[in-house]
Amino acid sequence: MIDVTLNTGAAMPQLGFGVWQVPDEDAATTVAAALEAGYRSIDTASAYGNETGTGRALRESGIAREELFVTTKLWNADQGYDEALRAFDASLERLGLDRVDLYLIHWPVPEQDKYVQSWKAMERLYAEGRAKAIGVSNFSEKTLGRLLSEADVVPAVNQIELHPRLAQKRMRALDEEHGIRTEAWSPLGQGKELLQEPVLAEIGAAHGKSPAQAVLRWHLQSGNVVIPKSVTPSRIKENIDVFDFELSEDEMRRIDGLDTGERLGPDPDEMNWLG
Ligand code: NDP
Repeated sequence: MIDVTLNTGAAMPQLGFGVWQVPDEDAATTVAAALEAGYRSIDTASAYGNETGTGRALRESGIAREELFVTTKLWNADQGYDEALRAFDASLERLGLDRVDLYLIHWPVPEQDKYVQSWKAMERLYAEGRAKAIGVSNFSEKTLGRLLSEADVVPAVNQIELHPRLAQKRMRALDEEHGIRTEAWSPLGQGKELLQEPVLAEIGAAHGKSPAQAVLRWHLQSGNVVIPKSVTPSRIKENIDVFDFELSEDEMRRIDGLDTGERLGPDPDEMNWLG
């Protein structure tokens, strides 16, 4: 496992485990399987409804808290200064933890226009040490620019949709310019058509690996933090078994060539759902 260093000075595993769409009643088993396989970073969110099961697996794992990296997110309807502080307390309560390693604003929700106030609350949580790092998710050039103009603390992470079909070159460069780590959500393209690309099968096979493993290696070598999700025990293991091979420059370029700019999720500048 490789760590990256955040602008806070803290280490974050470059490969973690995402739990979107894992029902709370299954989260404890799934997260336990991930921890058993060697993952130490878990990405959940208040909106996923599985902080309780996730927290249970973390606590029952017997793994020292300092070895774990726990991320959760502030939901859209909970934005605002006081609301964000309350939502954070509720997340900690569900997780059964006294701090998280990373707290993210899940979406900017431009229409609602509360993300700067929410950020001020996040800055307070960071100062109090209850969120060891704070960051954003789904921030664009526009929303990140506005946030940075008002922020005292630069986000440690921007978690955005990122996979070979949506390589996000511009946003990654912008994040990097500000010392913000780019974290890839839906890194496997949600396991859909992307993984059927013949070039991924070919490159994977050349290393005795699967298309998904080739994609994850592309992320790691591109410098992205990556959080694949799976509820399938064999895939949970497969997705972390990516540290014993390396893609050549040519293979990296061929995977870069899959970028079509197509999104699987909504355009963050137009996503105003409060759900
Ligand atoms: P992923 O790109 O991680 O793909 C997950 C899907 O791919 C699942 O259907 C899974 O199936 C399948 N899969 C996993 N591994 C393999 C494999 N080795 N071979 C073939 N298929 C595979 O999609 P997610 O959307 O879940 O993204 C990952 C994480 O990113 C989320 O869980 C969440 O933590 C985060 N996220 C954040 C968002 C945000 O707005 N900030 C938005 C979306 C995601 P199965 O489970 O059945 O094995």
